[in-house]
Amino acid sequence: MKKKSYKEIPTGGTITSPGNSLSYETGSWKSYRPVRDKSKCTNCLLCFVFCPENCIKVKEGKVQDADLNYCKGCGLCASECPFKAITMKLEEECEL
Ligand code: SF4
Ligand code: SF4
Repeated sequence: MKKKSYKEIPTGGTITSPGNSLSYETGSWKSYRPVRDKSKCTNCLLCFVFCPENCIKVKEGKVQDADLNYCKGCGLCASECPFKAITMKLEEECEL
């Protein structure tokens, strides 16, 4: 069978409406969640920079806890935090 060229295959990953990712609360996929120890956090903002989901917000120069509705539990924030202020905890070990 002849392989199709890229021009013949269906278009994927189309964003039809900017900002529509807000409609998809992907937080239910995660098995781990980031828990920040505020006493260790220096507000260096590295977790905010590295979070691929943009679910860590900054308010008046200080990071807020991750929005768990969109956090996928990837652990990047915890691995990049230079002060070990974020621990990834199993979802079932956290309060609901
Ligand atoms: S990377 Fe760590 S120390 Fe820096 S703002 Fe985030 S939690 Fe706080
Ligand atoms: S675990 Fe991943 S998605 Fe969740 S806040 Fe940290 S970097 Fe963002």
